[in-house]
Amino acid sequence: MNLAEHSWTDARDADTDLALLPVGSTEQHGPHAPLGVDFMSAAAIAEAAAEAYDDEVVVAPPIPVGVAEEHRAFDGTLWVTEDSFRAYVGDVLRSLAHHGFDRIVVVNGHGGNTGALFEICARVSRDGDCYAVPFTWFDAVESDLELGHGGPVETSMMLAIDPELIREDRYPEAAEGAGDGFGDWAGGANLAFDFDEFSESGNLEDPTPATEEEGERLLAASVDACVEVLDAVAARALDGDQ
Ligand SMILES: [Zn+2]
Repeated sequence: MNLAEHSWTDARDADTDLALLPVGSTEQHGPHAPLGVDFMSAAAIAEAAAEAYDDEVVVAPPIPVGVAEEHRAFDGTLWVTEDSFRAYVGDVLRSLAHHGFDRIVVVNGHGGNTGALFEICARVSRDGDCYAVPFTWFDAVESDLELGHGGPVETSMMLAIDPELIREDRYPEAAEGAGDGFGDWAGGANLAFDFDEFSESGNLEDPTPATEEEGERLLAASVDACVEVLDAVAARALDGDQ
């Protein structure tokens, strides 16, 4: 049940303690892809996983801005600090728990969120507010294509979710200015803090090998993995259970 599309009485009558909270980022993904890739993909996976799950699951609206200051050189990118992100996500998790949705999978679409997300999920779980587990889709699925950034994996995913948002005519521009790896390394240390220090177009990897077919496969695999996490979170014995 998507909370944003239902009434409070529907939420009251929902017979479940399970919730999905999509989180992402509004950040550059190269010249060919929209700024919303990360929260759009998280929301699409959460929606489809709730539909695929046997029992009822509440889906919270996506949190669209995350930890993304590393992309600040690229126009349109928005970010919050890790402190703000932890505080905000923590409050949202506790408000879900207040209504009895206290077993929560946080579906994440942005690598920069993972550290702060792990910390806040651990905090609310240790404090007994709720049991929250982070799930980052691109860490859970495999592909023959490269992940990169705005690369073939994310571009394929967007071709499956909303193909009109991908500008295939800009692939050459994306590829030409792409960096060859994350960071600028010397002696085992990353010298770079911002993305424009190692990528001109905002891309890592040429997005050209992306296909809608691979996107559909990635979406289905992400949904399967998310359902598996939901099953495990639902079955988990927690302190305070009788
Ligand atoms: Zn992304």
